[in-house]
Amino acid sequence: MVGWVGGGGGGARVLCAYTMTFKQRPSTYRISIAPSSRARCRACKRRVDKGELRIAITAFVRPGRSTQLVRCVQCVDARFGAAMLAVYGTPARVPAEASVSVADATAVRTRLQHIAGERVEET
Ligand SMILES: [Zn+2]
Repeated sequence: MVGWVGGGGGGARVLCAYTMTFKQRPSTYRISIAPSSRARCRACKRRVDKGELRIAITAFVRPGRSTQLVRCVQCVDARFGAAMLAVYGTPARVPAEASVSVADATAVRTRLQHIAGERVEET
């Protein structure tokens, strides 16, 4: 796919621009507890057990159509974390569902913070 969004300066911006051009509308993310054991992690293909902490993704496949995806917390890597932070800005703004305990939400956000910190120092 050819498409370069001009302007902007630093390396962190490139990641952001990449996400924006790749999809018409960025996905949204929520910290969530699996309500069933049916969903599989998009990254490792492992079944996410009922009650397990996960990231629920709403991906907009085309205008007016979205699909629900799931990723287990262990699979939140640098690239995935960067995509989440491109949407929310800071880990504290990533929404958590009401069923998620404060401790669990904090654990995920701390992980994101860690990933974000590493990315910033790299660029
Ligand atoms: Zn996984």
